[in-house]
Amino acid sequence: MKDSSPTLVIVLVDALAATQLEHQAMPFLHRLAREGKKISLDPSPYYAGIDPVLYGVSGLELGRFTGYCFDSERSPYAKASGGLSLLDRLPRGRAGKLTRNLGAKKLLKSSGGGWLAPQLFPSEVLAKLAPPPATDSPHPHIVHGLEQAGLQCRWYTRDFPYEGRKWLGSQLFALRHQRDLFRWILETDSEGPPALVLFELSVELDRMGHRYGPRLEGPLLEAARRIDRQLCELWRQMCDWPRLHWLVVSDHGMSQVERTWDLRAALQKAGLWDRLRGGTMIHSTSAQFSVPDVGVRNETMALLNETGPGIAVSYDGFKEVQIPDDNRWGDLVFLASEGTLLLPNHFQGRRQVAGMHGYHSSEQESSRPVAVLWGEQWPKDRVSPRTVMQALYPLITELFGL
Ligand SMILES: [Zn+2]
Repeated sequence: MKDSSPTLVIVLVDALAATQLEHQAMPFLHRLAREGKKISLDPSPYYAGIDPVLYGVSGLELGRFTGYCFDSERSPYAKASGGLSLLDRLPRGRAGKLTRNLGAKKLLKSSGGGWLAPQLFPSEVLAKLAPPPATDSPHPHIVHGLEQAGLQCRWYTRDFPYEGRKWLGSQLFALRHQRDLFRWILETDSEGPPALVLFELSVELDRMGHRYGPRLEGPLLEAARRIDRQLCELWRQMCDWPRLHWLVVSDHGMSQVERTWDLRAALQKAGLWDRLRGGTMIHSTSAQFSVPDVGVRNETMALLNETGPGIAVSYDGFKEVQIPDDNRWGDLVFLASEGTLLLPNHFQGRRQVAGMHGYHSSEQESSRPVAVLWGEQWPKDRVSPRTVMQALYPLITELFGL
């Protein structure tokens, strides 16, 4: 048995808000937090996931903003767009989606692409996309740091195709593979458990949060209870692991959606939509514009700033709003203010949702993700109960004496 290093189990619970960690919803995790420490985290702007925890730096320093880059020349989808528009005409609903996913995946494979989930990108967006800029970050991923120190790690993180399967697929996946996943998590060999086990419980809370908003009631409450039971079951089966430590952490919370704004209609009304010539990608909480023409760019920026619920920022102001200054992200972005849902966006179309995340700035208490530290050796007193995600990284390296 190894006795020199502790074992750390990191569980990413997708979309668990700090405000949802209540006794009635999550009695197990609540107890863990009481015995250990609960930390309410500042939401990372945009879509940095829990990368700040795993790399120790913010999304800006890592070069993360979103998965959407303009670079039609280098887009792996450039040649695939014709086929995809055909796929896009397939029937709506779950069956259509499933067929589209399979078709898109096949197409991408044959075109040599495959870096992101094709199913997340409808054909109107696909041809504009390029792989995100490579991160030659000087900051090592926690797993690499531990492995370099000779420690054994067992981990999986969401691969995009899995994430892309979203609800129906993930339910089928869970039905088929949950037992295997749990067996994989709990496996020990003659050396005992590995130093690090990192895995993820995804989709369900995120889906409920989008649909019903962040308030802990109804189906969302049921989903939280289910996740709590799973966590409790895993924890009980690890009870005899020596020097066990847990870090349960979420990637984001959920903001209540209070208004929608039809960005496309606003651009059309101002006569800008056609002049932007397809260099536009509208997401739920932000929009990216690739506008080489300075006149059109200035007009668009003025319109967005005068009439839009949010701020428009041009390339030279990117860093101030935590966007890496690489103009493959666009020459201009519009960042919706918290609680605004942009329509029509390529995630939800025109569908209204009650909860959203990924805002440039989030003040609602429910938008805060959470971390729970449990175990004897965490230097818990040194970390503030409200802090940034990257503040957790040095706690992990210190736990292993790195
Ligand atoms: Zn989500």
